[in-house]
Amino acid sequence: MTLTTTPAPGAASLRPPNKLPKPNDACWCGSGKKYKKCHQEADAEFIKDERKRLEANRVRPGRVSPMRTVPESIPKPDYWQTGQPSRGTGRNVRTPEEIERMRAAGAAAARILKLAGAFVKPGISTDDIDAYVHELTIKEGGYPSPLNYRGFPKSVCTSVNEVICHGIPDDRKLLDGDIVNLDVTIFIGGVHGDCNATFGVGTIDEESTQLIRVTHECLMKGIEAVKPGRPISDIGRNIEQHADKYGYGVVRAYCGHGISETFHAPLQIPHYFDARSTTKMEVGMTFTIEPMIALGTWEETTWDDEWTAVTKDLKRTAQFEHTILVTEAGCDILTLEP
Ligand code: MN
Ligand code: MN
Repeated sequence: MTLTTTPAPGAASLRPPNKLPKPNDACWCGSGKKYKKCHQEADAEFIKDERKRLEANRVRPGRVSPMRTVPESIPKPDYWQTGQPSRGTGRNVRTPEEIERMRAAGAAAARILKLAGAFVKPGISTDDIDAYVHELTIKEGGYPSPLNYRGFPKSVCTSVNEVICHGIPDDRKLLDGDIVNLDVTIFIGGVHGDCNATFGVGTIDEESTQLIRVTHECLMKGIEAVKPGRPISDIGRNIEQHADKYGYGVVRAYCGHGISETFHAPLQIPHYFDARSTTKMEVGMTFTIEPMIALGTWEETTWDDEWTAVTKDLKRTAQFEHTILVTEAGCDILTLEP
């Protein structure tokens, strides 16, 4: 038995589904009428109003404080002064000795992310979060990998609401009801540990709560696909299948990546199904999985700062990331606290 509540056609306050029917298809409301004879007009109105509201409340660039400095005693990655990372070894498989260092870096990144997440609350600025992550990273004895990576001016990426990734911390204060992704990477022991999570600020609405939950599920579904001998494309297939159930978009412009002595090694991990990702996973590979999931479209655009990626429709997006090691049994998540 299916229970359908049939709303009055033309009820403008009713939220249409993410995927709208074609004009001659049955309306999503269950009235049995054609969409064009039922909710199509009201939906167009709803979407126009929503777009106005999203435009009015969109995240705007704030003031960026001067670049922070890292003590001389902290070992630094090759790009720290020039902004240009070297290519690294190009190997996808790590030695046992490298893996031990990757485990330590991953655990450090996880500790910083947990503390930074607990620090999130209404009224603090993303620059306050940057100062805190910078300090925590140095306390761990590491260098905050984002700092001057290809010229990125800050020590962590802070991506609020419709910002997909690479948001630059600035003086914008977090508002009750915002969601914010903190992307933490530490360079320590000659390797990088990379993880991120999305946090609610104060009390968030149901739609955002579900988006955050499902995005985390997408990450875990992706991780479940990691097994030696399987193609990389299995990861994105799992993620996309889960996101599809909710009508969510999977961002395509940014992928997971190989990681070790280089922050972004050549291996690419798409979060959607890409049949061209035929590379087989091998024991000893280290890479990130970091799905960016959107309430609406997966299409993105970038601010004039050339970093901040936002959804084209300004609807919210969430992300979670782990650094993964492929093992005989499947994989280990390196960015969990031990
Ligand atoms: Mn990251
Ligand atoms: Mn990453």
